Amino acid sequence: MSKIVAIDGPAGSGKGTVAEILSKKCNLVNIDTGATYRCVALAMLRNNLTLDDRDKIIELSKNIDIKFGLNNEVYLNGEDVTKEIRSKEVTQIVSQVSSIVEVRKNMVELQRNLAKDYDAVMEGRDITTVVLPNANYKFYLDASLEARVNRRVKQNKEKNIDMSYDEIYENIKARDYNDMHKEVGSLMRTDDQIYIDSTNMTIDEVVDKMVNIIVSK
Ligand code: C5P
Repeated sequence: MSKIVAIDGPAGSGKGTVAEILSKKCNLVNIDTGATYRCVALAMLRNNLTLDDRDKIIELSKNIDIKFGLNNEVYLNGEDVTKEIRSKEVTQIVSQVSSIVEVRKNMVELQRNLAKDYDAVMEGRDITTVVLPNANYKFYLDASLEARVNRRVKQNKEKNIDMSYDEIYENIKARDYNDMHKEVGSLMRTDDQIYIDSTNMTIDEVVDKMVNIIVSK
């Protein structure tokens, strides 16, 4: 069976960056499950669908082709959409798209298939609880709302994503609520996760802590 490091946590907690570094250090494939929901949201926008078109969104999620490249590029139906899936438009609807139970079912299946053949680090909201509850290592990465907003502001500037501080603050707050109140696959803390509060930690400190746990277990 493949070795899996599962990381859950709220938006902006550093999961993405940590997973990227950890995957290189520990020679693991990096699977960003948020990107799969972002691809559904992007495909939906491109097809001029709104959140009211539930059945069509579900159909779309059933037939979608999502692949990851060696450098974490994301391909939607063969096209590189790595940057586009981080746009403001996608970010504003993705949490609601991911709340549709049937969409989750399709994405969870896709994610499990991606993980099947690889030693991987997989990050998201329900990896430790629903997607791969038997993962070898299960982490919950947290940080205060303010710290997460500040990190996202900095990250968006670096990536040239046009969102104001207030927009980011409101978006993360709304996503926190939505992600923790889903019918299925809610973000939650459990006793068998290793909890890390990264509010006052650097990314390197978080990675070192995780690597130490992984090599010692
Ligand atoms: O991690 P990221 O912010 O890219 O995820 C985008 C959205 O996808 C999240 O706000 C969340 O609603 C959803 N998601 C999810 N389950 C996952 C990963 C992401 O519901 N495993």
